[in-house]
Amino acid sequence: MNHYDKLQQKLDQHPVGAPASKYFREILKYLFQPEELDIALSLEFSLEPVEDIVSRIGLEEEEVSQKLEVMADRGVVLAKTVGEKTYYALLPNYPGLFEYPIMKGMEKEKQQELSRLWHIYYMESMGERLAEADPPWNRIFPAEEAINEEYEILPYEVASEMMEQTRTIALAECPCRITGGQCESPLDVCLSFDGAAQFLAERGMARLINREEARNVLKRAEEAGLVHTGSNNAGKLLFICNCCPCCCHFLMLHTHLRYREALATSSYEAELDVSSCTGCGICAEERCPTGALSLDGDMAVLDRENCIGCGLCVTTCSGEALKLVKREDHRHPPDSVRDLVQNIVVNRKKRNE
Ligand code: SF4
Ligand code: SF4
Repeated sequence: MNHYDKLQQKLDQHPVGAPASKYFREILKYLFQPEELDIALSLEFSLEPVEDIVSRIGLEEEEVSQKLEVMADRGVVLAKTVGEKTYYALLPNYPGLFEYPIMKGMEKEKQQELSRLWHIYYMESMGERLAEADPPWNRIFPAEEAINEEYEILPYEVASEMMEQTRTIALAECPCRITGGQCESPLDVCLSFDGAAQFLAERGMARLINREEARNVLKRAEEAGLVHTGSNNAGKLLFICNCCPCCCHFLMLHTHLRYREALATSSYEAELDVSSCTGCGICAEERCPTGALSLDGDMAVLDRENCIGCGLCVTTCSGEALKLVKREDHRHPPDSVRDLVQNIVVNRKKRNE
């Protein structure tokens, strides 16, 4: 077995997964140079100092450090510096090997080919792997302007409230829209927090921003019809993406691959008051990312089963016929990212028994 196949197998051991595919082998060839593979294969998914990594591969520490630095700068290896020491880890496919090298930027031809490969790999096998997670990896947050204050609002339900719990925020360009290239929606709307934010900013993949700018990112995204999504946990978030239905890998699980359970909905769903509908069609034609709203003659029709509770239809409804109401079947998300990953691993194991 060649080293690229071994690396695929290693990445497949991460809970996010990396199913075998000739397309993924090609992706790995774009991301890792042959002379970097021994080091990549010796990394763990948790951060370690260089001396621990060196002890497993028998190369000189200086050579290993230098190669790890180059890989971290390209966004294929995670790095964290504490004092004088830098710690390194292998990155999973999401968030990691798909997003970070694209955020870093590369020459156009290489980027186009990498985008093509990721798209096929996602549509063919990676999307299915992401979709089978129970609970889902990601959750929808409602457009803040659409949140219905008639209900008790829990902090985990609101993207800006979740951001309040983070120390560091970084803003990057959306790798899904860069690679997808299907729409003109804004690119500079990808928010990362804390450790990931620090890494991305230090390595030139994102820039640090303050909380006010981050809140403005959410506002701009809502105006542009983008859906807030984030990791499906109640504690500190890893990231908030602002997704379009045509390019974004997590939203495309629902919109393209038709896995209706692949994203946790927000705690809300849309409710339509047909008597107030003017038939303007804005909700169906410009706002709803899933096709849950359509027009029948001069009246909107809502398919509740297909609604993810993003609230984008509410904020632009010309007749004020749409509002968000609480879902009765809403599941409380796991308390932390750690709990989310553990639940996914345990449930996968049960399914495979
Ligand atoms: S109907 Fe569409 S736009 Fe409205 S909340 Fe549901 S998914 Fe979002
Ligand atoms: S945006 Fe509002 S008024 Fe216009 S069609 Fe949709 S529900 Fe009716």
